[in-house]
Amino acid sequence: MGRFFALLLLPMLLFGAVVKPFKWKDGESFLSFLERKKLPLSVYYNMDKEDQKLTEDIPYNANCQLLVDRKNIIRQILIPVNDELQLQIYYVPKKGYKMKVIPIISEEFKETLYLPLQTIPYDDILKTTGSKNLASVFVKMFKGRVDFRKGIKKGDPIVMVYTQKYRLGKPFSMPEVHGAMIEVGGKRYAVYRHTDGRYYDEKGAQYEKFIFKLPMRNPRITSRFTKSRFHPVLKRYRAHLGVDFGARPGTPILSTGDGRVSFAGYSRGYGKTIKIRHSNGLTSLYAHQKSFKSGIKSGSKVKQGQIIGYVGSTGLSSGPHLHFGMYRGSTPIDPLTVMKKKTEGFSGKEAKAFKAIRNKMDREFKAALTKKPVRKPYFDFHETYYVDTETLKPKPF
Ligand SMILES: [Zn+2]
Repeated sequence: MGRFFALLLLPMLLFGAVVKPFKWKDGESFLSFLERKKLPLSVYYNMDKEDQKLTEDIPYNANCQLLVDRKNIIRQILIPVNDELQLQIYYVPKKGYKMKVIPIISEEFKETLYLPLQTIPYDDILKTTGSKNLASVFVKMFKGRVDFRKGIKKGDPIVMVYTQKYRLGKPFSMPEVHGAMIEVGGKRYAVYRHTDGRYYDEKGAQYEKFIFKLPMRNPRITSRFTKSRFHPVLKRYRAHLGVDFGARPGTPILSTGDGRVSFAGYSRGYGKTIKIRHSNGLTSLYAHQKSFKSGIKSGSKVKQGQIIGYVGSTGLSSGPHLHFGMYRGSTPIDPLTVMKKKTEGFSGKEAKAFKAIRNKMDREFKAALTKKPVRKPYFDFHETYYVDTETLKPKPF
């Protein structure tokens, strides 16, 4: 009888479940989070090393969700690690809590934003789209080239062509801009994204000026950056949010750029770690060090190429190497995409490819300018859903 009642009771227990969105706190460790939520620490200790390391890369302010049932039992917690992977902590009756690394199911839409300016680009884009990310990306793209405080007149057009990811109807992660333009006093300025993922102006000159250098002399890459990869042998999702350089213990580690040390200490997964904040919103990270160069501590000013520490194998490391990470804000990015490369224009085949991209984008700009400035509304957001642990698809709870 008890079993029969339990079956009847189950839907009733689920009824009245609520999703509580929350943001990941700055500086919160995964273990202290579990403690705070009164969840068993075994959730952490049962993870394998790689997944444990992943928990250190949860960006602060990450949009997390917690699902509690009517009895106030936590049934699921979703914590995004980046825009492709998330940690799912879920409750299995009688067995307790488990944890899985699962992909984030998202939808992508290519959108075009056309705006006749009313005030300044940042405010207008924010007002129209509600996206701070989109507004700040636009401003960054024309920084140093267009002075938004001078010369702009009401009605000057801006166009942005981009892809935005949506998760359950809400935009998330940085928009990927394919091209953007602004007209100031009849003069048009445009930025194009090339196949290498970098931005160039009309003439094909690299727009962003990268100032970073590799953190080691004679570097040997042993593992590259990946946001989400299904490991065929382990049969699980993996991410590697940095680049590994194999090297002998004691090999000097160099600062990738000028900056200020924002952290020099021990972190559980990364071992002896140094973080350096650079001027343009980027932070570099150097993990598993044997020791720090004397005098290097939190607050130290460092120059590009300066020795900051030595290769080791501290933390959750399988052998001596440098794990080198790069973050825009708190979001991990591929460090190799911001290393110094060419700054001049293209030649040969690449010039042809760039020209084709530019011409196609120019046509999209033109088409956008003939339309009414409109924008798709966001979708409805399901407040109560659960990511199925087998199918990995969201379903109503
Ligand atoms: Zn690594």
